[in-house]
Amino acid sequence: MIEFDNVSKLYAGDACALRNISLTIPDGELIFLAGPSGAGKSTLLKMIAGIEKPTTGRVMVNGQDVSKLQTSSLPYLRRKLGLILQDQKLLNDRSILSNVMLPLIVTGAAAQEAESRARVALEKVGMLDKANALPLTLSGGEQQRVAIARAIVNRPKIILADEPTAFLDRENANKVLSALKAFQSAGVTCLISSHDEQFLDQASRVIYLSKGQITDSWNSSIAA
Ligand code: ADP
Ligand code: ADP
Repeated sequence: MIEFDNVSKLYAGDACALRNISLTIPDGELIFLAGPSGAGKSTLLKMIAGIEKPTTGRVMVNGQDVSKLQTSSLPYLRRKLGLILQDQKLLNDRSILSNVMLPLIVTGAAAQEAESRARVALEKVGMLDKANALPLTLSGGEQQRVAIARAIVNRPKIILADEPTAFLDRENANKVLSALKAFQSAGVTCLISSHDEQFLDQASRVIYLSKGQITDSWNSSIAA
């Protein structure tokens, strides 16, 4: 479970990115964080991973106060999260397989174990046939699905995806969303930001942010 308790974020220069956000996200939901560019969506996602700290308020992830975690504990938190963030590009000088193996290798997994788990992850997003390709030979949608495989290779219970369908045409965006929804079906909580409203009906819940505040929120009967 993820809980925001009266969270505000003031960046240097007085940009107020989030104002008094209180929010509870139960396990297993697929939630869309909607709202225009600059609304605070990335900031909210980064706070769950402890990448940004609240100026005031509290962010709890599975009963743990993320804002109070020591810097040294953050890697442990992040290993439990599948992060698909804007500034985490694939490494272009190595194969798709090697990119997806990397999170396991850095935590000390044996190469053979890492490879078989990376293949399973690639299979889940429909990208196993491109395992030996280099990232730049793939389409944007394919690269995004590989980024999802890399994020879930540690079998996280929570996936945070920042604008995973940005710059994709509808067909590719649908493939990316289907991959995320498959993990939700397996019990993984998915929190997805998007300024694109065409997919909102696929969420179990939609939260609208505008100028750092929640302006609307509803539950869908379709995908819950
Ligand atoms: P969104 O993801 O909805 O586009 P962001 O969370 O990226 O919104 O940004 C919310 C607000 O915070 C914007 O006004 C943005 O300019 C500001 N902001 C984001 N990151 C920083 C930062 N590192 N330093 C200063 N201001 C920032
Ligand atoms: P199991 O633990 O027996 O594999 P689960 O109920 O945990 O089964 O998951 C159902 C399916 O979804 C399995 O194929 C599993 O591999 C996959 N799955 C579930 N959670 C994750 C995750 N966080 N990352 C990758 N795959 C997952």
